[in-house]
Amino acid sequence: MNLQLLRGRDLRPPSRRDRTRPVAVPGTQEQNGKTKVEATQPEAPARKTGLRFPVGTETKAFYRRFYPDTTTAEWNDWRWQLRTRIRTLPELERVFELSSDERQAVGGHTGPLPVGITPYYTSLMGLSDATEPLRRTHIMTGDEYIRLPGEEDDPLGEDHDTVVPGLVHRYPDRVLFLTTGTCSTYCRYCTRSRLVGNPGGEYQFNVRNWDKALAYLEEHSEVRDVLLSGGDPLTIGDDKLDYLLGRLRAIKHIEFVRIGTKVPVVLPQRVTKDLVKMLKKHHPLWMSIHFTHPKELTPEVTESTSRLADAGIPLGSQTVLLKGINDTPAVITPLMHGLLQRRVKPYYLYQCDPIKGSGHFRTSVQAGLDIIQALRGHTTGYATPMFVIDAPGGGGKILMAPDFVVGRDGDDLLIRNFEGKVYRYPDPGSTLGSDKSPPVQAAAE
Ligand code: SF4
Repeated sequence: MNLQLLRGRDLRPPSRRDRTRPVAVPGTQEQNGKTKVEATQPEAPARKTGLRFPVGTETKAFYRRFYPDTTTAEWNDWRWQLRTRIRTLPELERVFELSSDERQAVGGHTGPLPVGITPYYTSLMGLSDATEPLRRTHIMTGDEYIRLPGEEDDPLGEDHDTVVPGLVHRYPDRVLFLTTGTCSTYCRYCTRSRLVGNPGGEYQFNVRNWDKALAYLEEHSEVRDVLLSGGDPLTIGDDKLDYLLGRLRAIKHIEFVRIGTKVPVVLPQRVTKDLVKMLKKHHPLWMSIHFTHPKELTPEVTESTSRLADAGIPLGSQTVLLKGINDTPAVITPLMHGLLQRRVKPYYLYQCDPIKGSGHFRTSVQAGLDIIQALRGHTTGYATPMFVIDAPGGGGKILMAPDFVVGRDGDDLLIRNFEGKVYRYPDPGSTLGSDKSPPVQAAAE
């Protein structure tokens, strides 16, 4: 082959086949019809491709099948993803084989917390398996209509602590700022199910209310920390979000702003170059990202989290424990490991709040303690989140941890390590553990 030809071949842009070479969706393998969860290595982020996102193999197969006239550019456009969300029964039926339970539940739904799933997130779901974990979190079933004792519309009593519309001031130095009622996808176990996805309903979110909240914050110099939530703040356009962050940063006593979001997971394409450039202007800015399952750790999510981390935004995760979905160490451990690989610190593991119709999602507190027990000492400390119950009625987050204090023997505190072995720690003058009577054998070890 002559040099010219060789050069010509080298300089040729990569073929469509090369450019779109499938990338395996990490974290899952189909085996005998069952999904096996594995620890995942993140794909290298698509640095050289500028604004383009990688598209996972299953996702690509999905969109070619269900959106054949859609270009990759459209698919990777977050506004297209939002516009094209699956929201109605016919739209669900076009993609999913619905069970009669799902069909009836969706057909009978009215009010807030509608069905809404981005095409991208749909591509990760089991289309013919109603028990698939991500699908269960987003398509309602009849269980959602069952209200059990102790379940409330507003279990955390946020409405009680609302000082102006959309601003919850419970703790002295920090506030919760509910910016919008819109989410890119609607989780069936949402703590704020009473107020999301219901424009024109009881709760109103608009710039006029933002301005009232900002005026309150300007007057309250004890507030140093603002958590933006909703709804999902990253569904707001760049200009409006820039305005809000700019106004907050201009208040001298506000030291710290956090954004709580699920967007980088369910609509990763929203994390555009323009968005991160705008966010960078408002440091110190932190972000808590809502993850549920290792299936979410796709090449797209590797890209969205990389862009945010590269913009200097510290990333933490929050995960709600859900019965039969993620309430075992076998699911949570690879999720925590995959998050660390993507520079997301596992932060909170939440016991599911007792919202109305959540009984089928709520697992036992013991299941959460067992997960922490399986993580603590068995893997990197950074991979162990805090397991908390948000106390119903507005009591705030209460840390739950396995009990590592076995008892006391005189001046020695008897403590148990991750392997169950008991050790002595000299702790003279304390009474900690004295109310426990350790087994004689354990005390002697
Ligand atoms: S993204 Fe967050 S606010 Fe929106 S439905 Fe899910 S849990 Fe609720």
